[in-house]
Amino acid sequence: MSADSVTAPSAGLGSEYAVTASAAYRSALEVIESVEPRIAAATRQELADQRDSLKLIASENYASPAVLLTMGTWFSDKYAEGTVGHRFYAACQNVDTVETLAAEHARELFGAPYAYVQPHSGIDANLVAFWAILATRIEAPELAELGAKNVNDLSEADWEKLRAKLGNQRLLGMSLDTGGHLTHGFRPNISGKMFYQRSYGTDPQSGLIDYDAVAAAAREFKPLILVAGYSAYPRRVNFAKMREIADEVGATLMVDMAHFAGLVAGKVFTGDEDPVPHAHVTTSTTHKSLRGPRGGVVLATEEYSAAVDKGCPMVLGGPLSHVMAAKAVAFAEARQPAFRDYAQNVADNAKALAEGFNKRGARLVTGGTDNHIVLLDVQSFGLTGRQAESALLDAGIVTNRNSIPNDPNGAWYSSGIRFGTPALTSRGFAADDFDRVAELVVETLRNTQPASGPNGPSKAKYTIADGTAERVHAASSEMLTANPLYPGLEL
Ligand code: PLP
Repeated sequence: MSADSVTAPSAGLGSEYAVTASAAYRSALEVIESVEPRIAAATRQELADQRDSLKLIASENYASPAVLLTMGTWFSDKYAEGTVGHRFYAACQNVDTVETLAAEHARELFGAPYAYVQPHSGIDANLVAFWAILATRIEAPELAELGAKNVNDLSEADWEKLRAKLGNQRLLGMSLDTGGHLTHGFRPNISGKMFYQRSYGTDPQSGLIDYDAVAAAAREFKPLILVAGYSAYPRRVNFAKMREIADEVGATLMVDMAHFAGLVAGKVFTGDEDPVPHAHVTTSTTHKSLRGPRGGVVLATEEYSAAVDKGCPMVLGGPLSHVMAAKAVAFAEARQPAFRDYAQNVADNAKALAEGFNKRGARLVTGGTDNHIVLLDVQSFGLTGRQAESALLDAGIVTNRNSIPNDPNGAWYSSGIRFGTPALTSRGFAADDFDRVAELVVETLRNTQPASGPNGPSKAKYTIADGTAERVHAASSEMLTANPLYPGLEL
């Protein structure tokens, strides 16, 4: 395809800039090549591989060339610890412009009173939120009681008392096997070491969140923080109900919308399903359904804003100014009317994918979806998640294995495959394409058998019937060619 034969539909990936972006990338790669040619080669290869695979990882997407190019600048060279107008370094006037604009776009996009755009990732955004809540609810009243202005004024003994108090607070979040995230108080993550944690699950029959059960758990456990949000729950959450529960027990409601922020920004989730008006603190990544650069953001009510603003240096290293700039560009894109169409398509396409599985007899957790995630129980194919993930990859279908509720195979091998529609929707895939994707997945898994290793049955080994991977790959290549990634971009 020549650089000016830009005919394929663009779903927001900037095909109108293809010719200029091609020139920019060609020049950049030439410069990189002169220093470390293997990095230039890997960069070229990554684009080729992404162009040639059905990317169904629910947490991934494709950012626009405008967002990607914004990250490659000298803002990367600047230290800017602190926040706008209150830096620990000199000469931050341009970073101030960037951070101010990114925060302004985020506030407007989500209708939030306050936005903090420095977190380097979703994990960091959650850490900022946790410590802002602890600072507001535990540290500040303790300092006031002791008549101290800040922690440095405390005696050694009072400081030890406060540290013990900060480290012994309660957090209630969604269980991992029903879709919660490691950062919601689970032991392998720092949050599990910080908090005394309990989790709520889903109804064993419907697979849906049972709000009465969440309320009962909250009444019994009395958490300081109630966390809502997920990374593998294929349904919407009623955040108004979550706030009622939090208010009843005096908890702070923190919503982690890392996965579905694009559906909030695109006004697919409104009213009770929009977390921002209900949560005290809302955190997110910027690179999943929101389609921005790899990073995080925290939104907060006025009550928590001063503490969130201290995220750096409280838990964050110096801000990545080049990424904050790219966040500003991505938020500006998400404020365009076209992003609403994109977000609606993401949700419609997930429904089409789920229907495609259902009509072919595959079992889905909760029976379907009403967000961007479809969670397939691969026990119905006699496979573990690990076997299914590997077989699909052989056929050019990129997914990730995931636990399902009460998973008999644990988190490593698991029994589920999580699919998401944000990335392929960005390429322009429509509902009928997703039905075909379901067909290809089912064809691959039906032709995959568990296999044994040297020590007997294995949860990782598998065989695929001859020709299946090649046939499926060829069929998916046709769809990928019809919906090119970065149409017109030539390196
Ligand atoms: N929160 C949720 C709900 C997530 O799904 C994820 C990532 O998968 C994160 C936080 C962490 O994001 P990051 O990988 O950017 O740290």
